[in-house]
Amino acid sequence: MPSSISLFIPGPINVSKKTRDAFSRPMIGHRGNDFKKLYASCQPRLQKLFGTQSPVYLSTSSAWGVMEGTLRNLVQGKVLNCMNGAFSDKWFDVSERAGFQAEKLQVPWGNPILPELLATRLKQGDIDLVTLIHNETSTGVLSPLQELAEVMKQFPDVFFVVDTVSSFSTVPISMDDLGIDVMITGSQKALALPPGMAFFSLSDKAMQRASKIKGRGYYFDFLEFYKNHQAQMTPSTPSIGHLYALESKLDDIFQEGLEHRYARHASTNRLVHDWVHKHGFEFFAPEGYRSLSLTCVKNNKGIDVAAWIERLKAKYSCIIDGGYGKIKGETFRISNMGDETEESISQLLYWLEDCFS
Ligand SMILES: *Cc1c(COP(=O)(O)O)cnc(C)c1O
Repeated sequence: MPSSISLFIPGPINVSKKTRDAFSRPMIGHRGNDFKKLYASCQPRLQKLFGTQSPVYLSTSSAWGVMEGTLRNLVQGKVLNCMNGAFSDKWFDVSERAGFQAEKLQVPWGNPILPELLATRLKQGDIDLVTLIHNETSTGVLSPLQELAEVMKQFPDVFFVVDTVSSFSTVPISMDDLGIDVMITGSQKALALPPGMAFFSLSDKAMQRASKIKGRGYYFDFLEFYKNHQAQMTPSTPSIGHLYALESKLDDIFQEGLEHRYARHASTNRLVHDWVHKHGFEFFAPEGYRSLSLTCVKNNKGIDVAAWIERLKAKYSCIIDGGYGKIKGETFRISNMGDETEESISQLLYWLEDCFS
């Protein structure tokens, strides 16, 4: 068994012992009453976290499965992919690979997607569906979802698909109020569950569109999810361990209280920001658009990030991330998602300092 390394990378993140114990409970049949009870017990709390009256569906896949599946369920015309980092850029690639006509709404990595840019493009017409990544995990940029949603409301025929994988439950996001048609999150980032499950919810508009689309396939067919949801089940055999872990995690989240959870993420994030200032580093994201669940730090001091993380791992059995894709080494990322506290983040920041040389 590998020695246990604490993960302060932005996903997968540390999974608590309580969650891991829940995850490894004995199996039950996925068509029986125990399963249905388990499924149903998670629904109201998931709906609260999504800010929706609609069902929240459970997909045994990582988030990308649903991100791709959404296109296959909904797209009838041209996709507009808002792009400002590795995950959002990839969504354009996925749109094209799935055979859809796609257009880039690209800004440089590190920048947010701004409402004026989106409005200008949508006014030109010819867009069927917009994809947005709320919190670009690769760059630590939080785009202004509320303002972008206001723009989308002026184009009620255009579908609004939002990935909240690394922001979900760390800041309030109300799907119904924002008019989001498809909201997607994953298990291993903000929710601090093991990797392997994705959660999503659909507007009525999305459901209606899906019913008219041919070639939805089976595994990610929205209508199958809906039909099975009526009986508190999933279309195919789900990762049952994930449901146990989810139920346990929802207990934690609502025991803490949402306001406390948001405040905890804000305060642990602030500790990281103070540390960045204190050591003369800069942020990769501009002020006002910085993620609250992770921090992407510009390596303006030119430290050897890889060697630093090796020392951290050797001495303190934990890791941060040395930068994603084309900004590897030029940046590093520190996650404060999940169960982290002021104590655990302060401890990490001390370890980071101690390992500078
Ligand atoms: C991690 C991540 C994904 C992809 O998640 P997978 O679990 O690898 O499918 C998508 N979007 C964002 C914003 C992410 O951080």
